[in-house]
Amino acid sequence: MTPAVLNLHNHTPFSDGAYTIDELCEAHLDLAGCKVDGIGISDHLFCTPSSREITNDREFERIFVPETRSYVAEVRAARQRWAGKLQVFCGAEINYPKNRGMLDRIRTMLDGVDYVIFEYVDWAGLTHLANQSRRWPCPIGLAHTAVHSQYPNTSLDQVVRTLANARIFYEVSSKFLPLDGHEAWLRTLPGHRVAVTVGTDTHDDLRVLRDIPTLYDTVRRFGLESKLLTPAARMEPAMSA
Ligand SMILES: [Zn+2]
Ligand SMILES: [Zn+2]
Repeated sequence: MTPAVLNLHNHTPFSDGAYTIDELCEAHLDLAGCKVDGIGISDHLFCTPSSREITNDREFERIFVPETRSYVAEVRAARQRWAGKLQVFCGAEINYPKNRGMLDRIRTMLDGVDYVIFEYVDWAGLTHLANQSRRWPCPIGLAHTAVHSQYPNTSLDQVVRTLANARIFYEVSSKFLPLDGHEAWLRTLPGHRVAVTVGTDTHDDLRVLRDIPTLYDTVRRFGLESKLLTPAARMEPAMSA
């Protein structure tokens, strides 16, 4: 069975993307020479460099509980509209440094979120995430992480074991094309139980979608095809009540 072709990293105007979910779906279906089975919306949720500083739990919840609910509702409505044509997953991208103090709170706010990708996770952060990864209600992974430069003092072997033990997935990103410098890491992955995803980090330029075939070629070339993660589109009881 050939694995589904999914691009799990796309932004919309809900955060800092330029294209709506419908426009992203159309653009993926219009791709020449590549049949995409599904896309993931992964808008920035919670604190970002451009959001104002939040100092306490109450304020964090007051702002982000309703925001997360309306985001999930928007993505789920799109999932219905595109049913039968394209799968739509509901992801979230979280800025690790800006939210590291709120992770316990965030984990309770993810009803309806199918997967989470973390960006800018340093080695201390990855160790911390790994220790609590099983407490998350959905798969968690690393977004656009250049392992060799982001963890310069840690061996690739130690990084891969940490991801495997914690079941943290790894995103093969458009940002790394051409792959210069990433090969050693990609060669390390297949021997370990680390799931991978493919993501173009679409913001305001749909031309990145043309990277999807190249990213899947890369996945195949490094023997990672069987590691591709298909998130489960979760039901979230809180909102249907
Ligand atoms: Zn990012
Ligand atoms: Zn992103």
